[in-house]
Amino acid sequence: MEGLTKIEDLGMPRVVIVGGGFGGLELAKSLADAPVQVVLIDKQNYHGFWPLLYQVATAGLNPDSIVSPFRKILGAQQNFYFRLAEVESIDPTAQVVETSIGLLRYDYLVLATGTTSNFFGDELMAKNAIALKNVTDAIELRNTLLSHFEQALQIGDQEQLNSMLDFVIVGGGPTGVEMAGALAELRAHVFPRDYRELDLKQMDIYVVQSGPVLLKGMSAEVSQKALEYLQDLGVEVLLESRVKSYDGYTATLSSGKQLITRTLIWAAGVTGAPIKGLAPEVLLKSNRYQVNEVNRVVGYD
Ligand SMILES: Cc1cc2nc3c(=O)[nH]c(=O)nc-3n(C[C@H](O)[C@H](O)[C@H](O)COP(=O)(O)OP(=O)(O)OC[C@H]3O[C@@H](n4cnc5c(N)ncnc54)[C@H](O)[C@@H]3O)c2cc1C
Repeated sequence: MEGLTKIEDLGMPRVVIVGGGFGGLELAKSLADAPVQVVLIDKQNYHGFWPLLYQVATAGLNPDSIVSPFRKILGAQQNFYFRLAEVESIDPTAQVVETSIGLLRYDYLVLATGTTSNFFGDELMAKNAIALKNVTDAIELRNTLLSHFEQALQIGDQEQLNSMLDFVIVGGGPTGVEMAGALAELRAHVFPRDYRELDLKQMDIYVVQSGPVLLKGMSAEVSQKALEYLQDLGVEVLLESRVKSYDGYTATLSSGKQLITRTLIWAAGVTGAPIKGLAPEVLLKSNRYQVNEVNRVVGYD
């Protein structure tokens, strides 16, 4: 076949795993002793531990503390092969995936591509907000935050100053709550030392949550405790409120209230990251694959 990715053929069934997140990586490891060739393809060469991403975004950890190269984790596994590439499409009839480095034949295909941020079609929001989904996002947020504080030192105008020092976090799920807590701790413990010339009482942190509680899906007690902890830390939590628009400076809420900020953090939802080539009807709401009881995509048994 023309354009094939150069990779050894072990003469064994080939399992191609797309995506080395928690799901894909765990599967690759568990196939160590199976009579198969395992080929992991990821557009990044590392696995990320996303629960600590907010620490990278707030300069508590360096990126290398939460990522580890696939070759380091699995390099010693004899049946393991890795290719750094993006999978662009699937041809289920030919049993081939098209990738940025060529075509790759498979006997078994595992889709473990995770999710991407969901801006619900709001292009202005996607352009102006900072999401928190990967290391690039976290570094962008860290750099933005520090750069705004440096600029704030030179600003006299009150509104301009607030735009630099204030943060609006959209979404009161785990990521939004963690980010708000981490920013409040920076304000209480780190910035007073690093930016003693700034009046940190001017630094406001808002969490805008569309529903009536934080951490929806967790117990009522946990939601209440999270609210109390954040309020004790001086975070302003706006429940049953939505950010309707954001132009990079003004966030307009559903109530009409406007918040001025140059840093709006989007933690309000994700959507699946499907790969084209499968029948459109296998994709459900939020780009979830329709699967059977053993997690096989329906119609591709
Ligand atoms: C900031 C943050 C904090 C979180 N905190 C927690 C927590 O405290 N507890 C918890 O249980 N969960 C938490 N989660 C959720 C958890 O990280 C996810 O549920 C988990 O990562 C999902 O694993 P996955 O393997 O499905 O996908 P992912 O971890 O998203 O991995 C998908 C992989 O696929 C690759 N990929 C995607 N598309 C392609 C393509 N077309 N070609 C090649 N490669 C591709 C990506 O590069 C990525 O490496 C958090 C998530 C975030 C973002």
